[in-house]
Amino acid sequence: MKISVLRIGHRLVRDDRLTTHVALVARAFGSEKVYMTDAADSLKQTVDEITKSWGGSSDFNIELISNWNRVVMNWKREGKTIVHLTMYGIPLGDRIKELRREKNILVVIGAEKVPRELYDLANYNIAIGNQPHSEVAALSIFLDRMFEGKQFNREFRDAKIKIIPAAKGKIVREMTPVSYEKSDSKGPTT
Ligand code: SAM
Repeated sequence: MKISVLRIGHRLVRDDRLTTHVALVARAFGSEKVYMTDAADSLKQTVDEITKSWGGSSDFNIELISNWNRVVMNWKREGKTIVHLTMYGIPLGDRIKELRREKNILVVIGAEKVPRELYDLANYNIAIGNQPHSEVAALSIFLDRMFEGKQFNREFRDAKIKIIPAAKGKIVREMTPVSYEKSDSKGPTT
């Protein structure tokens, strides 16, 4: 299953950190693309830099867009599924089984109020609980429930740095592009 994210709305400067977090969560929790409206190019650059260091640039990208409607219509034309996350929707647990059967999902989240027409364009309006909270929380829970935790086993290819999990302290390994097996000097292994 492939999941992309569409973030509608971005209040300049005020939302920079939140929008960056949307992109980082999307990347770390297994989605392959984020479309963003109204965000600054510098924000995309920040996330691109992080992806370059931590890996997965061939599997994840960000596209700045000016027209969310066109993206949604293109996805619908291709027969792909649009899931809008909103506190007014149907609880995720009531739809999770059918959603997991989809092959391609565009999950849409807002910044403030989203345009009314999106509720009709979406194949599913899904609530992560029917209380107001945050698009970052809603996206995290949605991706985690969809991928059932398997997203954390994913390999982030071509990482320059990698964390070695530790019970205490921080262990970060710098990766070399080509590594040589210690016991065999015949040539490189990837
Ligand atoms: N009144 C908005 C709404 O319709 O959910 C809340 C705005 S909230 C600051 C920004 C975004 O967070 C929303 O557009 C929605 O995508 C997401 N969100 C917030 N609470 C949610 C919930 N309980 N379930 C699903 N998505 C939620």
